Amino acid sequence: MPWTLARRAARLNPSTIREILKVTERPGIISLAGGLPAAETFPVAAMAEATARVLRDNPREALQYAASEGYGPLREWVATELATQGLSVDAAQVLITTGSQQGLDLVGKVLVDPGSRVAVESPTYLGALQAFAPFECDFTAIEGDEEGPLPEALEAARGARFMYLLPNFQNPSGRCPSAQRRAQLAEKAVAIGLPIVEDNPYGDLWFDAPPPAPLSAQLGIGENGGAIYLGSFSKVLAPGLRLGYVVAPKTLYPKLLQAKQAADLHTPGFNQRVVHEVIKNGFLNEHVPTIRARYKAQRDAMQAALLRHLHGIGCRWNAPVGGMFFWVELPAALDATALLDRAVEAGVAYVPGAPFFAAPEPRHANTLRLSFVTVPPAQIEQGIAALGRVFAQALG
Ligand code: PMP
Repeated sequence: MPWTLARRAARLNPSTIREILKVTERPGIISLAGGLPAAETFPVAAMAEATARVLRDNPREALQYAASEGYGPLREWVATELATQGLSVDAAQVLITTGSQQGLDLVGKVLVDPGSRVAVESPTYLGALQAFAPFECDFTAIEGDEEGPLPEALEAARGARFMYLLPNFQNPSGRCPSAQRRAQLAEKAVAIGLPIVEDNPYGDLWFDAPPPAPLSAQLGIGENGGAIYLGSFSKVLAPGLRLGYVVAPKTLYPKLLQAKQAADLHTPGFNQRVVHEVIKNGFLNEHVPTIRARYKAQRDAMQAALLRHLHGIGCRWNAPVGGMFFWVELPAALDATALLDRAVEAGVAYVPGAPFFAAPEPRHANTLRLSFVTVPPAQIEQGIAALGRVFAQALG
């Protein structure tokens, strides 16, 4: 029998990153490619204890079907936590999702029609492009600088369904707009009636000082508020839990909830209860600083290695003040996608920058993303040294 693919299926593409990760799983490759948190930071003992407590105290509720909105105490926790970031929301606005990636899918499902426009940063998170594309939108890429999108460039987003923004230690560029830039972006968004979908999985991973308040704090997520906010437990606990959340205006919440119900009924209640059990008494206040300290040391190690091995051959990079990524610009003559095979042969992998652009142009071909958190400093040094040799050779 012939299968007829839906039109939207044509917009589903293999993730370049997942394809690269397959290569990098080969033994002996130093992978600076994946956005994988350092596994040493996963709180295994706390998870084991919490799991035992949940199974002892509430085994049947924890293993039963549960509410699509999410586990009440966890939703309360999220609302209280967001208040500390200046974001005042009601727990009733919090929808627990199966990773924040599902939040992106639900937002796309509820807000995007074929032919409608979605504005994105340039570059932006590849997983968001993948989540929105099947709903057949057209992307409008908003120009930016080292800090983030340019407020005046937002003009191009006028009429879009929303702009997807990732202000804190952006994946892939690592950039983080100042409070002033955020205020200007929020002001411009209001002026042109542009709703903002703000994704913040990395905000807690700051090194010296917390990032400025989310744009959502300025825009509001109330009845007339202009923002939807997404958060995740992947980078502060563990991604394998698949726990994230969407905070939405009350007017949109029912639609997101219905989309969630249709997608998977609810996020595993067992995981939600275990995570709530782990974090309910302030665990993250002690745990997250240990992640920050580790990642800062790793950032320093990569910064030093980049200076040693890539500086002399005309490469440029940002200096991330949080998060997980360096964004590197090679000399204009080099193409990061074309050179990846040679890098892998030399024992090191990275992600080329081009897939992170909604509309890749030749001028993006020399960009790439490096994660500084996944492998230890000695391997970072070895990996960057190998990259230096590959790029120097390519320059001739
Ligand atoms: N948004 C961004 C910007 C990300 O980098 C990621 C993970 N790489 C996600 C969302 C999805 O995270 P999760 O589904 O694990 O919460």
